[in-house]
Amino acid sequence: MKDYYEILNVSRDASQDEIKSAFRKLAKKYHPDLNPNDKEAERKFKEINEAYEVLGDPEKRKRYDTFGHDGVNGQGNFEGGFGGFSDIFDDIFDFDIFGGGFGRSSSRRRGPVRGADLRYNLDLEFEEAIFGVEKEIQIRRSDTCSTCNGSGAKPGTQKETCSKCNGRGEVRYAQQTPFGQFVRVATCDQCGGTGEIIREKCQNCSGTGKEMKNKRIKVKVPAGVDTGSIISIRGEGEAGENGGLPGDLFIYITVKEHEIFERKGNDIYLTVPISFTDAALGAEIEIPTLEGTESFTIPAGTQPGTSFRLRNKGVPNVKGIGKGDLYLQVEVKVPTKLTQRQKELLKEFAKESGEPYKGKKGFFNKVRDAFSN
Ligand SMILES: [Zn+2]
Ligand SMILES: [Zn+2]
Repeated sequence: MKDYYEILNVSRDASQDEIKSAFRKLAKKYHPDLNPNDKEAERKFKEINEAYEVLGDPEKRKRYDTFGHDGVNGQGNFEGGFGGFSDIFDDIFDFDIFGGGFGRSSSRRRGPVRGADLRYNLDLEFEEAIFGVEKEIQIRRSDTCSTCNGSGAKPGTQKETCSKCNGRGEVRYAQQTPFGQFVRVATCDQCGGTGEIIREKCQNCSGTGKEMKNKRIKVKVPAGVDTGSIISIRGEGEAGENGGLPGDLFIYITVKEHEIFERKGNDIYLTVPISFTDAALGAEIEIPTLEGTESFTIPAGTQPGTSFRLRNKGVPNVKGIGKGDLYLQVEVKVPTKLTQRQKELLKEFAKESGEPYKGKKGFFNKVRDAFSN
């Protein structure tokens, strides 16, 4: 699939204003009304709309920047719904055109309205975020009325076509002007623009066609999500109106901290205490990793604070390709309780090193000695 920024011909750091103006320019150029029977223009127009639906919305744009097309398309199929665009279309087609050639006007028929999006905050354990998990969540949302199936009419009765507008939802008034006939279009006041009249309303929903329902939804959390990740589930938001598509459900992830692992992006940081003899002589130690314990060889002469990088032992990339690293930092422990024998051995050690232990040394000598090694 083509990159949305490329489609709109804007840079990745373009401002919302720049995106909007690029969209308007292209939408004007490729609009089907201006390019009748041009399949290529129609395809381009759809593409532009799709790109703008995402980049024109800061939230969706953020998801797209993080997850690519997967982040905004949910199940992968994009329904190029134009429902949300009425404002910008009205804006674009605000030309002075007489004769009613353009169907767009601010008072047209009330068409399908897309349902509202929903937000759910999901807390995850550290491991759940790393390995992925399936969660069942419960949301309360406005849904299609189960009594009337969303029609708003009492079961057994039918909606009737509005007699004033004959179901069109709008009323036209012809007007003669010096430029020719001018057609004014207004929303039908009898049906409110729906084109239909409900004589007997459904008692469950009072004619709205909607009711509040609790719904349990299974959420597949992919491996590698982090605090701030957003999972979108297409069509699980609130019900639409007049046959409009339902909104989407957005799940905002927060990941709990771990006792010993610290996560930064896809990398994991771990501090391991080792004895000073292990640091000096080298040792094979057991270390915890995300997948369990494994052995790791500390080389002889390891200095305090040394960091080792274990490639591909970090968090899987949420996009499915690659993994972060595990950084292992050693903390060399200096013993605090020594037996008499240990003290003697250490003094022996100092003597062997050519700097017998005296228990007293000038501060500046100490510093000089430390750097002369
Ligand atoms: Zn109902
Ligand atoms: Zn009407």
